[in-house]
Amino acid sequence: MILPLVYYGNPKLRNRCTEVQEITEDIKQFCYDMIETMDANKGVGLAAIQVGKLLRILVIRPVLEDEDKEAYLGKAELYINPKLSNPAEQTQIGPEGCLSIPSFHEDVERPISIHVEALDINGNKISKDLQGYKARELMHENDHLNGVLFIDRLPAQKRKEIEPALREIKSKYN
Ligand SMILES: [Zn+2]
Repeated sequence: MILPLVYYGNPKLRNRCTEVQEITEDIKQFCYDMIETMDANKGVGLAAIQVGKLLRILVIRPVLEDEDKEAYLGKAELYINPKLSNPAEQTQIGPEGCLSIPSFHEDVERPISIHVEALDINGNKISKDLQGYKARELMHENDHLNGVLFIDRLPAQKRKEIEPALREIKSKYN
């Protein structure tokens, strides 16, 4: 089932999400709905809060490259109660967008790699290091779990410049 998105301007997006206590059948179905909703909106990542549920669940669809450097989408990856650690000191600036802030893209600086521990949909432990764009996707979605949006990570001057565009999005989608 495709779920309705929560858009920028809705105060719900500023909440801190709580951990999933038990991966019930309802939670599993919700996870599948999140993937369906992400794909239906042509997104590459989605956090539960973006469909109005204040739980620490996120999904990403990794953007990969084939031998000819052609981008393609990998298998959806689900992370329940993710904990990020060990961010690389080295950072990278790259473009980001967000399904909650439609048709808006800006360059964001983030560490080039990160370690993540989480549970998968069957409650199995995930522990891995992510690099490059995949690390970026995960950090972007993980920010949502703490009520943080990618625009909060822009330099103050830039944040000021985009204010009119953000106001427009706010009035258009709420
Ligand atoms: Zn987002």
